[in-house]
Amino acid sequence: MYNHGQCNRLHGRIQRGKTGFYIKSDEVCICPECKSVLKYRDKVLRGQKQIGGERKLYMINRLQCTNEGCRKLHRQLTDGMIKFKQYTAEVIEDVIDGVISEEDGLKNPCDGSMKHWRWWFLYNKEQIEGHLRSAGYRLHGFDTGSVKLMGSLLEDIRENISPGWLGKVCRIVNNLGGALRLSPEYG
Ligand SMILES: [Zn+2]
Repeated sequence: MYNHGQCNRLHGRIQRGKTGFYIKSDEVCICPECKSVLKYRDKVLRGQKQIGGERKLYMINRLQCTNEGCRKLHRQLTDGMIKFKQYTAEVIEDVIDGVISEEDGLKNPCDGSMKHWRWWFLYNKEQIEGHLRSAGYRLHGFDTGSVKLMGSLLEDIRENISPGWLGKVCRIVNNLGGALRLSPEYG
């Protein structure tokens, strides 16, 4: 039987507010367009689907690029959130790790989503590895000594931060200005 327990994997301090949860974070984020530093602008609501389909609302930071020629807006995601994914990172991670599967007979997430997530992860694996390596020394919670020269950094994080690895690596990639591919058509 599937049980993801009480563990939350959001990065930063969570506070309950009138419209949902506020997340406080002092992480430095990078613009994916021009690689300049992003600055806090305002807060926006983001819904995250849990196992069973229930949506929880979070108030997240919206950041703006400090480069005058860019000024693009970006959402600062936390460990529980993956860009363009409605479900929380923990649900998606459990599917990738085989903790939940089609055999559990769940409606939410459906079989199609599970199949897609497993494919999405394999499709982006190499890219995640590249982003982690290039960002290695800046990683939150990792010092230079823990960045391996050989072997997979992604697999290392997966082994050492379980549960919670997927949200962590996706947050690092996203907030340091990297992007993951959705499908071959979208590039
Ligand atoms: Zn920019």
